[in-house]
Amino acid sequence: MKASRIERSHSIPPSHAEEGNERAAQVRGGPDWVRIRTDFPLLARSVHGKPLVYLDSANTSQKPHQVIEAVDRFYREHNANVSRAVHQLGSESTALYEGARNKLASFLNVHRNELVLTSGTTQAINLVAYSYALPKLKSGEAILVTTMEHHANIVPWQLVCERIGTQLKVAPITESGELIVEKFVEALTGEVKLACVTHVSNVLGTVNPVRELARECRRRGIPILIDGSQAAPHLPLDIASIGCDFYCITGHKMCGPTGTGALWAKREHLQAMPPCFGGGEMIREVKFSGTTFADPPHKFEAGTPNIAGFAGLGAAVDYLQDIGMTNIAARERELLDYATQALQQVPGLRLIGTAPDKAAVISFLIDGVHAHDLATLLDQEGIALRSGHHCAHPLMQFYGVPATARASLAFWNTTEEIDVLVAAIARVRKLLA
Ligand code: PMP
Repeated sequence: MKASRIERSHSIPPSHAEEGNERAAQVRGGPDWVRIRTDFPLLARSVHGKPLVYLDSANTSQKPHQVIEAVDRFYREHNANVSRAVHQLGSESTALYEGARNKLASFLNVHRNELVLTSGTTQAINLVAYSYALPKLKSGEAILVTTMEHHANIVPWQLVCERIGTQLKVAPITESGELIVEKFVEALTGEVKLACVTHVSNVLGTVNPVRELARECRRRGIPILIDGSQAAPHLPLDIASIGCDFYCITGHKMCGPTGTGALWAKREHLQAMPPCFGGGEMIREVKFSGTTFADPPHKFEAGTPNIAGFAGLGAAVDYLQDIGMTNIAARERELLDYATQALQQVPGLRLIGTAPDKAAVISFLIDGVHAHDLATLLDQEGIALRSGHHCAHPLMQFYGVPATARASLAFWNTTEEIDVLVAAIARVRKLLA
């Protein structure tokens, strides 16, 4: 790790046990998690008079000061529109925006020209729906999704299906929240022209075997889109080695600003796809008799983009890479194991999603306690966790519940915070159950 980026004075005193563990990790050469936590200014605040315990990273991540300062610096020192101006500020702004594309491309191991910058995963998936599926698919054909998809990977396909007369097929999962791979493969029949699968479930934490799924799709000549919203912040990613056709990410879950994200697509798809939005920035020449378009990825980036946001996302990618995604994944696995064990001790608590290969997302129910009541009372204790359907109605229907509580962890969380959560849940349970 580059000390210059991470170096900061402590503002949150660690517990002695925590400090001991972290020092031991450092001696073994691991990142200094106690110091890293101090990069996040918001984590030092209190809520309702209690220290904030932020357990909602699957919803959106907190931002390190390096990212906040990059956005601030953009407006203070460089602000101008991209690509249009020849003046110095315009060049600096363009360099920051295109620099973010380069950084993301290297982070994901793809070519920069195959990376379309978007406002997030929702826009990325809709871009594929309207520029790829809508012009290409025909009535009677099908799109395959899975039971565990986020609405962002269901509703765009439903909208497209309605317009074309295409069918939406669903590959099932087990009670423990694992995709049934044989059923997914069985569902890859001749009429399926696109498969769409999340890499990591935002509710269950399940990590899907995307390489295997992509291989099965390739064997049958079926393109596959992977929703990487919950994978990019937590796992080392190498999109080239997955062998998929489309991969979508969102910046606000990976320490970056809201309104940033990307669609990676194979070059052949980007070349063949018509643009979805028209306007400035995406053209080569405009005449009233017709318009020719810029090459991908710019063909898909009409209008003024979120330049400040991408300056921040570039800083976020640097930040994650400095810590190292392998270190982040290992740290979050430790926290997940600790939290799972601790929560399992709470009487009446049922975990939803117990796949062996999981990211640090823990959905649960408590007998006799509504998830919203739980989250509301925990908020009074300074604990931020999400309750609800997590934009996954069909998954809630599968489990026969209206909502779950969800604690989602990030590398800056501590075992001490998990202890605070478990103790607070036990108190709420006594009060309400
Ligand atoms: N897919 C998954 C799995 C998600 O968790 C989310 C965000 N909750 C999205 C898609 C939507 O991403 P965005 O916030 O970029 O629209």
